[in-house]
Order: sequence, then C-alpha cells, then structure tokens
Amino acid sequence: MLPRPPRLLLLVNPFGGRGLAWQWCKSHVLPMIAEAGLSFNLIQTERQNHARELVQGLSLSEWDAIITLSGDGLLYEVLNGLLARPDWKEAVKKPVGILPCGSGNALAGAVNQHGGFASVIGLDLLLNCSLLLCRGGSRPLDLLSVTLASGSRCFSFLSVAWGFVSDVDIQTERFRALGSARFTLGTVLGLATLHTYRGRLSYLPATGEPASPKPGSTHNLPRAKSELTLTPEPAPPATHSPLHRSVSDLPLPLPVLASPGSPEPLPVLSLNSGCPELAGDWGGAEDAPLSPDPLLPSPPCSPRAVLSPITKNPPEMPAPPGHLPPCPDGPEIAPSGGPPDHLLPPLDAPLPTGWVTMEEDFVLMLAILPSHLGADLVAVPHARFDDGLVHLCWVRGGISRANLLRIFLAMDRGSHFGLGCPQLGYAAVRAFRLEPLTPRGVLTVDGEMVEYGPVQAQVHPGLGTLLTGPPGLLGPEP
Ligand code: ADP
Ligand code: MG
Repeated sequence: MLPRPPRLLLLVNPFGGRGLAWQWCKSHVLPMIAEAGLSFNLIQTERQNHARELVQGLSLSEWDAIITLSGDGLLYEVLNGLLARPDWKEAVKKPVGILPCGSGNALAGAVNQHGGFASVIGLDLLLNCSLLLCRGGSRPLDLLSVTLASGSRCFSFLSVAWGFVSDVDIQTERFRALGSARFTLGTVLGLATLHTYRGRLSYLPATGEPASPKPGSTHNLPRAKSELTLTPEPAPPATHSPLHRSVSDLPLPLPVLASPGSPEPLPVLSLNSGCPELAGDWGGAEDAPLSPDPLLPSPPCSPRAVLSPITKNPPEMPAPPGHLPPCPDGPEIAPSGGPPDHLLPPLDAPLPTGWVTMEEDFVLMLAILPSHLGADLVAVPHARFDDGLVHLCWVRGGISRANLLRIFLAMDRGSHFGLGCPQLGYAAVRAFRLEPLTPRGVLTVDGEMVEYGPVQAQVHPGLGTLLTGPPGLLGPEP
C-alpha cells in the first residue's frame, strides 16, 4: 500500500545542441532523478516530429509529467502534440518540464532565474534545472496561439521572431555543435550584414486587469517533501534497480539505439526505484500501484534494454496521421486543436478598434512570452510565465551597428531598455499581427522556421503547466 513514486516520461533528442544530451542524461540527470525517488521511462527521439507523434498517442494518465532533454524545439513539439489531441483541454494541463541540452535553451534560462540561481549556461544550467525539477513545483504557463499565412495554427511558449533574431537563429543552425555560443557568433555575423525589413506591426495593448491567473498562484503540484542538496562529488551511476527486459506497455516504437559518436548502444531505460518518502507529492495522475516488474533476465547480447511495465493498460497503437484515437483518460472529447482565438479576426480581415498599427522599416520584431531569449539572454526581465502578456519588442531601422551590439550585450543582464536607444520599442500586448512587406525573410516560432508571410497571434493565459521547481528566495517572484 506504499504510495507510488511520481512517473516521468523523459524524451531525449540525441542530436540537440552539441549532441551531449544522452551523455549528460546518463551521467547527471538520471542519478539525480533516481536519488529524488522519481520513476521514469526514457525515450530517445529518432527524428524531427517524433516527440510530437509520441505525445499525441500517449495514455496521459500514466504519467505525472513529460520532460524534454534537448533545446526549446523538443518542448515545442510536445506542447503542439498535446494541443493536437482530441482531449487537448486536459492534455495541455499535463505538467511539462525542460532540461536544457540544446543550443537554444531560453525557457530553461527563465526557469533557472525563477529558481533563484545566477545566470549560467551549459552543464551548470542543466544541473540547476534538474535540481529544480526534483524539488517539484509548477506554475501555469502562458501559450501563444500563432496563425500563419496558410491558415495553419501552432502554439508557442517562447517567441515569434522576424528580422535579426530569426535570421541569426536560422543561419546558425549548422553551428549547433557550438552550443549557445552559436548565437554569439551569429550576432557578430549578423551585424556585419545587417538588413532592414519593411512591415506593418499591429497590436492589441494589454490594459486593465491582466487576463492571467494572479501572480503568486503557484500551482499546487509536485513539491518534494525532502530538500535535495547537490553533493560536490559526481553523482553515482544509476544502478539502483535492475533493468528487466519486458514488453513495453508504451504505445511507442522503441528508439534507434545508436548515438552519434557513441559506440555503445543506447538503451531505453526505465527505473522504478522510487523511495516512498516522495510519493504523493506529484499526485497529478491516478494512484494506481505500479505493476510488478516481470523479473525476466535480459538476454546477454540484447542491444535493447527495457521498459518495465508500469500500468496494466493494453498498449495503444500510434494513430495514423489525422486519425487520433479517442483518449479514454480525457473527461470530454472536444474538437482537437486548442482553444479558439477570440481576440483575432481572420488574418485577411481588418483589425477591430483598439488596436495600434505602425508601418516601419524594422531591424527586428520579437514577440516573447517568458523573460529569456536564450539561456543567458534576458529579453524582458519583468516577464513571468503566467503574466498573460505577449512582450512585443522591436528595433527600427536607422540604428547603428554599435548600438544594436550594445542592446544584445546588455541583454546579458536584461538592462537594454535602460540604454535609452530611440529605435528600441516595447509594448505589453494580448495579441498582435505582423504583415511583412519585404517579400523575402525568415519567420521563426520558438526558434523553428515557419512559412514566411503575414502572421498573427494571441496569448492564452495559463493554458499549460510548467515544472519550475519552487521559486527561489533571490528570484524575481517571492
Ligand atoms: P537545439 O536547441 O539544439 O536546436 P532543439 O530541441 O531545438 O535543440 O531541437 C532541434 C531540432 O531537432 C528540432 O526541430 C527538433 O524537432 C528536432 N529533433 C528532435 N529529435 C530529433 C532527432 N532524433 N533527430 C533529428 N532531429 C530531431
Ligand atoms: Mg532549437
């Protein structure tokens, strides 16, 4: 009758960032998670959109949280997968977490700051975020519904970018192996070939009561009873529980078991070594006890390890595209695709009164939800995960290269708005529309390139749930 340990689904992109996700996961993340008494199953993504497909077919009641180990791109896939489900209303509330192993780790930078840690990158950032994850605690997460020229819609937790920021992001894709230094290099290269783009930017200013949950309304979700401390010694290897070969009860194909630059096979891991001390703190999902492991020995040469069954439910098959199975764990079946955008007329229709429009030559337009644009780039220091705001920033043409560089250098501490640069603009908004008039350019949503053309978006306050860990004493939120 012992309460069960929380169950995490870990999705690892072995190609994210410098390709270290799997290595860092094994050597640092898994030992910490095991020590915290959390159980997990780990799956490596095989290709782009794999994670999106996985979460679309997942039996969500079996998991307390979905955690990505990559950059921002993998979490983007997960959230869009959740929102594409027929039971999206429930599905999007499933707590998600991010463990930074990519080159673009903006959300992790914001989580790190929220947790009260000093700005760090690389492995230090991963360790901080892993520790926060183990301590538990979450907040509602604002999401941005983005409508593209073709009429298709996607959901962003981070940013819509046009001009300098998206150019740098896409032009430096091939330098992913540099980690976050990719963006420093890109900024220097981008400054050398600075472009301006003509466009019409319209927005609905945020006035009056914020449409978001009250600040400080920390979601009453995972919070570990015990406070973990990081020991200075390297974490012990994850050898707590024997790995048993068994049939997976996940509706998932087993991952490819080869990693770039790694001769050893990559097992699918499952570790159910939860200590009862923590159980119950993550009580989002059903309290069904874990099924016993089958205790079958692994064949000696099996390159694949193991998913130990943690539910009795029959496996679900991945759905063919466009035909999602009804989700038994959702209380109501609603049309898939997320909530309606009540603030937005059709993209080709005129905007209602109350919107502000400007037509300019822009160096960049950045619509951002959280505080960070990169692990150590603070674009909007006052932004909160659930402030119900889109933070619209722009830089007009006519700015000197030196001043643009100053802005990006000041983003180190988020002090760029204090520079008094006349070309730098900002508005807190609920919705915006961008109509590029320059015929060629790059638009990104959460760092991923999308079709170029008119785009509009509105915020959906607190639509998702982000595992942040408890707020830090030195952090921005008490
Ligand atoms: P980074 O910060 O390094 O860009 P991301 O998490 O943003 O890391 O991932 C980069 C891209 O890789 C995303 O578009 C993601 O969908 C894609 N991706 C995820 N898994 C794989 C995989 N196994 N192979 C190739 N691409 C993948
Ligand atoms: Mg990315």
